[in-house]
Amino acid sequence: MRCGRGMVGLSCGMISSARTLTVSGISGVDGPKVCFVGQERPIMPIEIEDQKPVNEVLRDREHELSLLVDMVPSHLWRLTPDGEPTFFNKRMVDFLGLDLPDTDRPGMSRLEAVIETVHPDDAAEFRGRLNRCLVTGERFTMRYRLRRADGVYRWMSSSAEPMRDRDGQIVQWYGLCHGIDDQMHAEEALRQSRRQLQQMIDAVPVRIWSVTSMDSPVYFNKRYQDHFRSVIANFEAIGEPRIETLLRELIHPEDAPEVQRTLLNCFEAGRGTVMRFRWREKDDIYRWAECRVEPRREQDGTIVQWYGVSLDIDDEMRAQVALRERERELSLLVDMVPSNLWRLTPDGETTLVNKRMADFLGMDLDDKQQLAVVFDTIFHPDDAGAVEDVLGRCLLTGDRFSMKYRLRRADGVYRWMSGRAEPLRDQDGRIVQWFGLCHDIDDQMHAEEALRRASERLAQATRAASLAELSASIAHEVNQPLAAIVANSHACHRWLSAEPPNVERAKITAERITRDANSAAEVVGRIRALFRHAPEARLPEDVNRLIDEVCLLMADETTAKTVCVETTLEPDLPLVALDRVQIQQVFVNLIRNGVEAMDAVAGSARAIKIRSYRDGPDAIRVEVRDDGTGFKDPQRVFEPFFTTKAHGMGMGLAICRSIIESHGGRLWTANNEPRGATVAFTLPLAASEMP
Ligand code: ADP
Repeated sequence: MRCGRGMVGLSCGMISSARTLTVSGISGVDGPKVCFVGQERPIMPIEIEDQKPVNEVLRDREHELSLLVDMVPSHLWRLTPDGEPTFFNKRMVDFLGLDLPDTDRPGMSRLEAVIETVHPDDAAEFRGRLNRCLVTGERFTMRYRLRRADGVYRWMSSSAEPMRDRDGQIVQWYGLCHGIDDQMHAEEALRQSRRQLQQMIDAVPVRIWSVTSMDSPVYFNKRYQDHFRSVIANFEAIGEPRIETLLRELIHPEDAPEVQRTLLNCFEAGRGTVMRFRWREKDDIYRWAECRVEPRREQDGTIVQWYGVSLDIDDEMRAQVALRERERELSLLVDMVPSNLWRLTPDGETTLVNKRMADFLGMDLDDKQQLAVVFDTIFHPDDAGAVEDVLGRCLLTGDRFSMKYRLRRADGVYRWMSGRAEPLRDQDGRIVQWFGLCHDIDDQMHAEEALRRASERLAQATRAASLAELSASIAHEVNQPLAAIVANSHACHRWLSAEPPNVERAKITAERITRDANSAAEVVGRIRALFRHAPEARLPEDVNRLIDEVCLLMADETTAKTVCVETTLEPDLPLVALDRVQIQQVFVNLIRNGVEAMDAVAGSARAIKIRSYRDGPDAIRVEVRDDGTGFKDPQRVFEPFFTTKAHGMGMGLAICRSIIESHGGRLWTANNEPRGATVAFTLPLAASEMP
C-alpha cells in the first residue's frame, strides 16, 4: 500500500533496516484500532521518516488502518469473549443499516440484536454454533443469509477467530464475513442442474455407462444398475464392476469376445463405435441390445472418458429376423411359382422380373440396365406394337391389362404367353406399381389352333360332303326326268321319221316328254322350296348387345391373331325384330373375313372396328371395318363359290347378304382409303321379310 507521503505501509517486504514499533492493544467502540497484544515479533513494521514525530506517524498510521478496515470488501466485526459485538466496520454498518448503538435494545443482548438480522431459517444454527465457539474457543465458520438494510437476505460466508493473551485467555473475537450470494446461487443452480441431469440420466429408458479405460470401474445409471441387480444375484458383492465383469456376467458367451475386441479397437483408435449383441436379462433370457460408444475429449483432443448408451432392440431385431425370413420365403415363392412375374413403375419401367422369367428370357437378374429395357426387345415383332398400344392404354387409364402375345425365349424361339397385369394403388388411389404375370400357353395355343383348323376342315368337309350329297341327289332327281325326256325325244324323232310317220305314237311320246319336263321342274321347285327360308320366329333384339356377345364369342380367336376389336355403338338404338342366330352368323362371318384379310398385312396395329348407328327414321346401320388387304375383286365377292383363299368356300358373303335381305335390309361392300375393307348393312326397324 502506498501512502501519499513517505513509505508508511504494511508490506512485509518492507521490513528491513528500518526502525520498528510495537503498539499495545487499544479497544473502544469509536472506531477500529490497531491491536497487537504482547506480540513477540513486530507484525507490521513501520518505516518512519527520520524527521517526522512519532505521534504524527502514528496518527497517519491509524488513519491508514481505519481506512483499510473500512475499505476491505468484507464485513469485519469484533466481539467480546462473551460474544457481545464491540465493532462493525463501515461496510457492515452500511449493509445492515445498523450500527453498534442500534443494537442496544432493552431486554436484549447486542448479540441477539445482531442475530435478528440473520435469516430465521439460519438463526438458530448461527446462535448455536457461535455460542459453542465462544465456549470452546474453536474457530467459527458458517454460511448463512443476512438481511440487508433494504430487507433482502443475502448469503454470507462468515468466520471468526479468537485472540488470546499471553495466558491463552481469549480477549477478543475477530470476525470477517463476505457476501457469497452470487456464488451460492451459482452453486445452487449447478446443484439443481446436476440433480436434473442425474434424474434425466436415471429416467431415460436407456442404459448409460462410462469408463476412463478398459480396466477402470464402470459408472452406470440407475436403470443399468437395476438391470444388474435383477440379473446378477450377488451384484453388491462384486464391488465396482469393470468391463471384464460385464462381459463375463452380462453378454452372451457367443458375443462377448467380439464385443471385447470391438471395445479394445475403439479405445485404441480413439473412435466411437456401435455394437450389437445379446445381453442377459432376468431368468437367463437373452435379448438383443445395441450399444453406442463415444469418447469425451478435452479441448486439446485428449480422451478423458468413454460413454456408452445401450438400448434394448430385441423387438426390432426379432421383427427384422421375421421380416427377413418372410422376405426370403416370399422371394422363394416369387421365384418358384410356375409363372413369370414382373413389376413396372407407373410409367411402365420394369423394376423386377422373377428368376423364372429371367431364366426364360436369358437375362441377368442383377443387371439393372438390362432390366429397365427388357420389355423393348422380347416381344414378337408382330405383337410388339399391339402390346405397346394396349399396355400404354392400361398405364394411362389404370385398366387391367390382359393379352396374349409371343415372347422370345433365351434360345430365340418365340412362345405364346398369356399376360395379365393389375395396378397397385396407394390410399389416395394413385397407382404406385403394376404387378404382372404371364404364363406359357404356347402348347395350349398350338393345340387350340390345331383344333380350330381340324374343326374348320371338318366343317368344310361336312359342308362339301353335304353339298356333294345334295348335288348328287339333285342330279339324281333331275337326271331321271332328263334321261326320260332325252329317250322320249329320240323315240318321238323315230316315230316322226318312220315311213309313214306314226303321228299317234309321236304324240304319245311328246306327252311323255311334257310329263317328264314337268316332273324335272317339280324337282327343281322342291329344291328351291327346300332352300327358301321358312319364316322364323323373329324377336325384338338389341343389336348392340348382339355385337357385344359376338365380340365375346370371338375373343379367343381375335386375341390369338393379335387383333383388337373396337366397338363404337350408338346408345339407345331401337330394338330390331331379327333372327339372332342368323345375324350372329353374319357378324361372325364378317369379323372372320376381316381377321383373315389382315393376316396378310404384317406388323401394323390390327383392329376391327364395328360401328352401329341410326340410319334415318326407319333403319339402323352397322359397319364392320378392317385394316386388311381390301377387296381385290369387288364385283365378284357375292358370287357363290367365289373365293381368293386356299381353303375358302366362297359362300360366306353370299349367305350374309341373303340373310340380311331376308330381314328386309341391304348389305354392301366398299374398300377403305388408304387400305382395308368395309362391309355395311342396314336392318329395317319395322321387321319385314323378303319374299
Ligand atoms: P371365303 O371367305 O370362304 O373366301 P366369302 O364369301 O366370305 O368366302 O368371301 C369371298 C371373297 O371375298 C374372299 O375370298 C375374299 O377374296 C373377299 N373378301 C371377303 N371379305 C373380305 C375382306 N374383309 N377384305 C378383303 N377381301 C375380302
